[in-house]
Amino acid sequence: MKAIVADHIIDANTHRKNSVVLIEDGKIVSIIPSEKLKEFDVEVTYGGRDYLLIPGLINAHTHVAMVKFRGFGDDMPLDTWLNEVIWPNEKEWNEEEIYKWALIGIAEAIASGSTTINDHYFFAWQISKAAETLGVRAFIGQTMMDLVDMPIAEPKLGFKFFKKWKSRNGLVNVILAPHATDTVSRDLLEEVREFAEKENALVHMHVSQSREEVLRVKDREGMLPVEYLKSTNILESNFIGVHGVYLSEKEVGIYAKSNATLVHCPISLAKLEGYVAPILDLWKLGGNIALGNDCAVSNNSMDMILEMKFAAILNKVKNRDPTSPTAKDVFYWATVGGAKALKLNAGLIERGYLADLVLINTKKLHFLPRENMLSHLVYSARGSDVEKVFVNGELIYDNGMFMKTGEIEKILNEQK
Ligand SMILES: [Zn+2]
Repeated sequence: MKAIVADHIIDANTHRKNSVVLIEDGKIVSIIPSEKLKEFDVEVTYGGRDYLLIPGLINAHTHVAMVKFRGFGDDMPLDTWLNEVIWPNEKEWNEEEIYKWALIGIAEAIASGSTTINDHYFFAWQISKAAETLGVRAFIGQTMMDLVDMPIAEPKLGFKFFKKWKSRNGLVNVILAPHATDTVSRDLLEEVREFAEKENALVHMHVSQSREEVLRVKDREGMLPVEYLKSTNILESNFIGVHGVYLSEKEVGIYAKSNATLVHCPISLAKLEGYVAPILDLWKLGGNIALGNDCAVSNNSMDMILEMKFAAILNKVKNRDPTSPTAKDVFYWATVGGAKALKLNAGLIERGYLADLVLINTKKLHFLPRENMLSHLVYSARGSDVEKVFVNGELIYDNGMFMKTGEIEKILNEQK
């Protein structure tokens, strides 16, 4: 049995002080007051005084390998950025480069407190290998499009990847990743839905990310993106839509009534579109919200702690209302919301939950006074405050060191 001791243990429901989380077989088995620790037979103890323990953050939308293009094409409109910067660069990918940059992207996510990533990209098998190397929990889909000429996104590759990797035991879970409502045809979307139903698979897809996407769907289908999704019956509990920047009031209503999740990537879309999605409208109607970094070209980091702060601040500005969302709301999106989307028993620090946990050393000026830790986590902390990361109860990151591989150190020393 392992123990993690902390002055403060917080999740979206509870704040416990001076407590210990006990872990066995990858799960949280008990949470006890610190003074009771001596009654248990514990092999290893982490944390102690001045520590804050939180559930691992769930980065519900990423393209980890795109860290390769960090700093490319800042301050451009989204369509120009995609057509003139991103897609031409992406055509140059090869397997070795993808693996290396996926490792870098995932490592950065882990080091900033993510224990789960939900990735949507090309050469998904290489991203999966990188995830396995580092020991993160990962949901990985091979991007599929049939309305854009992109050989590395051929739909058959997505189905093939799914079939090949689905029975591999471990932390990598395969999903389906149709690209977006304007780049995927109705026929392909229906094929994805049928396949997902048969395989009980999750579907991860961009929705209403740009004005151009909305116009293209309207032209082609005679309806708005969410109406289009609804008409194909794909908008179900296994559907993870991303962005929803330009959802109309009617679309928000349809989305809220479905059991689908919407992933909010506030930094990325504020930077790419200068706009914030109507997340609070969906939230108020009971829709499930998760949080994601999107890619490091549009973000430009993989820091989910910073993402929570931006989610809170940008939505307050959008609605000109400082009372909503609260720090608790955005913490919920980054933990429970993501776990719900991915159907994981994670996101809370409760008995029986996965021991995906993040330990933060609060012996720093910006954690003083050490009282309202939820506020500090969302509004004052940063990814670099993360000290230790546990996935399935296993320590995978400790103070700059990735415990399962020496490859990151090597890349850091060699990469220009
Ligand atoms: Zn994306």
